Amino acid sequence: MLVSKVAIVTGSSRGIGRGIALSLAGVGYSLVINYAGNASAAASTVEACLVAAKENGYEIDAISVRADIGDATAREYLLQETRNHFGRLDLLVNNAGITSIGRADLLDATEEAFDTLMGVNLKGPFFLSQAAARWMIDETSKDQTLHPKIVTISSISGYTVSVNRGDYCMAKAALGMMTKLFAVRLAEHGINVYEICPGIIASDMTAPVKEKYDRLIGDGLTPIRRWGLPEDVGQAVVAIADDQFRFSTGEVFNVDGGFHIRQL
Ligand code: NAP
Repeated sequence: MLVSKVAIVTGSSRGIGRGIALSLAGVGYSLVINYAGNASAAASTVEACLVAAKENGYEIDAISVRADIGDATAREYLLQETRNHFGRLDLLVNNAGITSIGRADLLDATEEAFDTLMGVNLKGPFFLSQAAARWMIDETSKDQTLHPKIVTISSISGYTVSVNRGDYCMAKAALGMMTKLFAVRLAEHGINVYEICPGIIASDMTAPVKEKYDRLIGDGLTPIRRWGLPEDVGQAVVAIADDQFRFSTGEVFNVDGGFHIRQL
């Protein structure tokens, strides 16, 4: 069995998750590439991870696992596949997420869309973290040199109002509390828990609003006047995965070009 560290990155067939997976591969992590339905994108990410690792002198393994994070049976399957293939878990990155379905105004938003979004963006990460944490506790109880970690990708939408994406904003805000809850509960087991809060990142999710954000960024919305890239988030995950923040848990890392800074 391969001895390299193993990470599950949810929603890593495309976008930010793919950037995270590639960055982790570049420092020698073996990877579980989770996706919802786009098998060819997932296969391409697996290939790209193997190449990224090799270019940096590492031999890793990577598999893709189709599993809807909003579905309990699928989440169990994702962990079981990881167990069967790798037998260990060093890092869970809760990245998979969907945007607000239909982007309806707060006064028109439907319960159906709300439930679907909450299932993927909040319930999924919570119960996947719970199940992964149980496995990690089992690992650390047998080998106290291990320090597995959980990283959750939230969003500036967790504290920035968009009245046509209320469900998305609320789910992202709740992920901040989720991180703190698990940080406190898991500290005694040597498991640190972090939130990464990305700003505006170029991906399929933001492609439909590209022109709007081009304009806002050009007008100085962010002190660093450019779009964020998936690898910007990936490098932040690598710093955490590399154990550079051993005495920090429940911490929020803003990867947003300075968006969060209030200005007068
Ligand atoms: P994206 O380009 O739309 O990619 C979404 C990824 O998640 C794909 O790999 C997709 O798989 C997967 N996915 C979607 N629903 C899933 C489900 N139910 N179960 C498992 N996987 C699922 O999105 P992104 O921009 O990279 O966003 C990734 C995360 O970052 C999200 O949580 C998002 O809220 C957050 N975020 C994004 C931005 C931004 O500006 N882009 C900013 C802040 C935070 P398939 O390929 O199979 O569809």
